[in-house]
Amino acid sequence: MPSSDLILLHAPSVYDFRGHSILYGPVSDLVPSTPVFEMYPIGFTTIAEYLERHSLRVRIVNLAVRMLGEPHFDVERQIAGLDAAMFGIDLHWLPHAHGSIEIARLVKRLHPCTPVLFGGFSSTYFHMDLIRRPEVDFVMRGDSTEGPTLELAQYISSGGAAHPAPNSVEANQLAAIPNLVWRDSENNPHVNPLTYSPENLDGILLDYSYVLQAVVRYRDLASFIPFRAWLKYPITAALSVRGCRYNCVTCGGSACAFAQLHGRQKPAYRKPEDLANDIRRIGRFSRGPVFLLGDIRQAGDEYADRFLDAISGYQKPVLLELFDATPPGFFKKVARALPNFIVEISLESHDDAVRRAFGRPYTSAAIEKSIDEALEAGCQRLDLFFMTGLRGQTYESVMETVDYCGRILARYAARGETRVIPFISPLAPFLDPGSRAFEEPGRYGYHLRCRTLEQHRQALLAPSWKYVLNYETEWMNRDQIVASTYEAGRRMNLLKAKYGIIDSAVAEATDRRIAKAVALSKEIDLVMALDDPEVQHARLRALKPEVDSANLSTVCDKRELEVPLAHTGVNLVQAAHVVAQEWWKGLTRTVGQA
Ligand code: SF4
Repeated sequence: MPSSDLILLHAPSVYDFRGHSILYGPVSDLVPSTPVFEMYPIGFTTIAEYLERHSLRVRIVNLAVRMLGEPHFDVERQIAGLDAAMFGIDLHWLPHAHGSIEIARLVKRLHPCTPVLFGGFSSTYFHMDLIRRPEVDFVMRGDSTEGPTLELAQYISSGGAAHPAPNSVEANQLAAIPNLVWRDSENNPHVNPLTYSPENLDGILLDYSYVLQAVVRYRDLASFIPFRAWLKYPITAALSVRGCRYNCVTCGGSACAFAQLHGRQKPAYRKPEDLANDIRRIGRFSRGPVFLLGDIRQAGDEYADRFLDAISGYQKPVLLELFDATPPGFFKKVARALPNFIVEISLESHDDAVRRAFGRPYTSAAIEKSIDEALEAGCQRLDLFFMTGLRGQTYESVMETVDYCGRILARYAARGETRVIPFISPLAPFLDPGSRAFEEPGRYGYHLRCRTLEQHRQALLAPSWKYVLNYETEWMNRDQIVASTYEAGRRMNLLKAKYGIIDSAVAEATDRRIAKAVALSKEIDLVMALDDPEVQHARLRALKPEVDSANLSTVCDKRELEVPLAHTGVNLVQAAHVVAQEWWKGLTRTVGQA
């Protein structure tokens, strides 16, 4: 009997990135991951917890983080040593189009009789492309797959065939699993109806104590770590919603995309009291901040009030996202409940027209009011995010965005205020499949350069992020998107130094990295213009050491995003305590049932 019913594998964006020379650029500067996108999706944790709750054993192996952390980590050996009834691989974000498929091929070669399941948003979108691949046995569609994944895992663990004969009893069993895409023994694909789409998040539990227990059970902390720097900066996520009310044109998590891909007509919210409990549970073992995914006001003011009542008194840092301007008094309530709160706002552009064209409903003036109120209420810091590559945005408009940030910073500096921190990064590498811009690029002023899964997979191997981008806009081509991003990053960095947001040594280091990335980008352009592919390849290989050293924190220092805390880290004593408690609860439950 295999030691796990399901092993969830997370691949790096490009497999094997260690051998390729790719200038990733600033694509991951504003997320905790490196450009390898080693952070596994939150669904890994909810699926694992759900299956474990139903007496199956699930292990998470973050191959990407292992490959990053251990230069000689042998992926094949690791996979060969795994023992599961089924492997699950996420293709959630499209930047994993290369790595996920290569890992599936490896799994199939090393475990030819073990089924491979794909899931995630991009898997849902490209389910037909995936199911035709020999290394993929199943695809689970939808935004909430805990229930159907349990059914499939139970079927496989009880000896069910991955590809049963048409019209057999087993084929009927597979046909009854909602959202599942599968093949019969004659290679005919079957796409089951997408009927599993819970109206709320009551049934799922973002319970990291499962992760702690699994670490102990499999004696493998290294493979469970969500991203490289996590042990030093253990930021964790809490999930308030699946779906969104808004329709930002390039977002694969927008209302339109959820409706088209997952058949979701309205967002599914987590009960506010449960959400508060999720956060408190995280606080039992982690001293790090919790990022609350989804604006708590999205489900209405009553939801926000109930959540704030339930979480009241939680002392550790919580990052709140704002999708819209706030009504007067909102931040006073937040401050009373969460004395250590941080605010994240995506303004995208200084220009109301560009922001509106992107799908954000608020004006700069309205958000500036919200910023003032958040600061007055005592928010610990407030991050403002801007983007390049937007509809209606020119090179000049990007520079004006930086000028706007300069005015904002000057205004707050005059009050001795350094809590407002602007960031700018590109919309990269891909427009999300399912977003309005991806589906109707011409209507929204985008030119799509890749459409199929295979085109994206190939694009990811291009030698610099300029060539990876799957789009251009009517207002900026790829060269302009790249040039405006680097120049905006350079100017923003100088502004932050000028107004005391970062110290001069950090600013100088960032400036040097941007200059280096610009020079490398130009050099790669020259190599790409060569006719001889062999010479091209040799020149790119020669650039690899320099490219690798320019791949982290291009337009800002990643650490600028970190909440400065007196004590960060995972509280190991508390973590052990949580494991012991959960183990004891499990034992008493089992004894009670016997
Ligand atoms: S980017 Fe816009 S559409 Fe996407 S999740 Fe955020 S608010 Fe919703």
